[in-house]
Amino acid sequence: MQPNTYPRIPQEIAPIATDFRRIQSALPHPASIPLLEKMEHYEARSMHGQPPVIWHRAHRYTVEDPYGNRWIDLSSGVLVANAGHGRSWVRAAMADQLERGLHHCYCFPHEARAALSEKLVQVTPASMEKAFLLTTGSEAIECAIKISRRHGTSQGGNRKKRIISFQNAFHGRTLGSQMAGGIPALKAWIQQEDPTFVQVPFPDGYQNEETRFESFLGALSERSVTTDEIACVLLETYQGATASFAPVEFMQALREWCTSHQIVLVLDEVQAGFGRCGKWFGFEHYRIEPDLMCCGKGISSGMPLSAVLGKAELMDQFGHGEMTSTHSGNPICCRAALAGIEIIEWENLVENSNQLGQFQQEFLQGLKEEARCIGVVHGKGLVSGIRFVKPGTKEPDGELAHRITQRCYENGILTFAPVGPGGGTIKINPPLCIDQAALEEALGIFREIVLKENS
Ligand code: PMP
Repeated sequence: MQPNTYPRIPQEIAPIATDFRRIQSALPHPASIPLLEKMEHYEARSMHGQPPVIWHRAHRYTVEDPYGNRWIDLSSGVLVANAGHGRSWVRAAMADQLERGLHHCYCFPHEARAALSEKLVQVTPASMEKAFLLTTGSEAIECAIKISRRHGTSQGGNRKKRIISFQNAFHGRTLGSQMAGGIPALKAWIQQEDPTFVQVPFPDGYQNEETRFESFLGALSERSVTTDEIACVLLETYQGATASFAPVEFMQALREWCTSHQIVLVLDEVQAGFGRCGKWFGFEHYRIEPDLMCCGKGISSGMPLSAVLGKAELMDQFGHGEMTSTHSGNPICCRAALAGIEIIEWENLVENSNQLGQFQQEFLQGLKEEARCIGVVHGKGLVSGIRFVKPGTKEPDGELAHRITQRCYENGILTFAPVGPGGGTIKINPPLCIDQAALEEALGIFREIVLKENS
């Protein structure tokens, strides 16, 4: 067994039955073992490592296995199901598209794509004039790099091509997005990195206590990078692995500095967008707008779809057919995304995320005061990153974090496996349609588990 894996030997669990959670079998359910083994046999190892719940049905903010067990979902898959799982409006839209038989059409025009592109431009700030639809977050990042570099070199010649990003950043798993990432262990396989990709420290205020904008400029000059060489600065609105935000003043200074040096500011909103942080887009917390934004995950609440949005001047640099992707604007995905965004609008889920988010953040800050094993809690809206540490230090305690997620799973609370430095961070990010009562129940159980493990 790899370290920090979830055991495959069924354990008897005391039954749980509440309005939201139901555990009525041993876990993992004995009947699930052959399925888990089959996946392990036939699939790449990297596809595994999550709590062994067989996802069978999902409804709003709960997930059920085939054996009648039900969890409150604090994962949203992986911050995807913003509107909620299995919403009937989304299902009806997809079913209608299925019935028409139009499941794919490459870049030929279709109604669903037109409607979604229009909607995306409408819900984003006015400076986001055009959208380009893709399939994954990584692709959106790759595309933003391409657009920025084309812009940089056309404005400032061949020199203006550097991509500045941040240490500990995560932007995806493809070659370019991984080179822009700031987690050395994840990109060791690349062997020969492109020296035009440069990472500087991220001012999270915890791991890196130096948060002044001057330190960003200092880091560039230490790396011998001059402004006339920079095509773009790319960063997550909050660092996904820990939910940590940069200070507002830092981001405002960065915005101004990018503008004055014709540097494209790209914000990776793949996690932060579509209400997750209690605002439509996470960058609204900084009171700035990017030049380009990359969206994914919650944009569609489930189907594979991503987008880059930006000013027409940037988005229209490439001619017909020079930015394409086989599944760009897939009709079923577009219908699902549009319906999901409509639910976010109609049900005021951004406001729900804001209100319940305040409750969640305060609750977890309170828990930090009670539990010495929590080093810091970051987050806004309905995303929190809780960093477990060896008491009195900032050293991540990945084993403890893992054990807590195991206990959550046994108690009908579903999180994904810990992430972040040393695997020490547990993320809490339920669908934005979660009710107060369900969230209170889930956080209450989480608190009990943490305090028990802390003692
Ligand atoms: N950016 C961020 C901030 C992400 O969290 C992720 C995925 N975790 C990506 C980009 C890459 O998205 P995808 O997995 O859809 O390629």
